[in-house]
Amino acid sequence: MANDARTVDYRALLLEERASLESQLAELGYGEVGRLNYDSNFADTSQVTAERGETEALARELSDALADVERALGKLQDGQYGRCERCGKEIAPARLEAMPAVKTCIACASAQR
Ligand SMILES: [Zn+2]
Repeated sequence: MANDARTVDYRALLLEERASLESQLAELGYGEVGRLNYDSNFADTSQVTAERGETEALARELSDALADVERALGKLQDGQYGRCERCGKEIAPARLEAMPAVKTCIACASAQR
């Protein structure tokens, strides 16, 4: 039972995000992405037409996002969720709510630019 009203179900958010990414990938023709091995799938396709290249780029973006979601789910299980991967501090809940798969805190994200 969640007694804290402010507790956000990040797992549900992540699962929702994952389902959405998976269906987008499926629409692009990259279905069956339960365990997508996107590195080998996408890395060796240098000879693609421009149109296909765009699809590849989009699929790669979606796959990267999907990988982030998977990582975040793994961290939830390990109790490491919500920590910035750069500085190790806790990421603001509002940021996690907006982007449940985010890997860095606001300070580190803005320092990256
Ligand atoms: Zn940080």
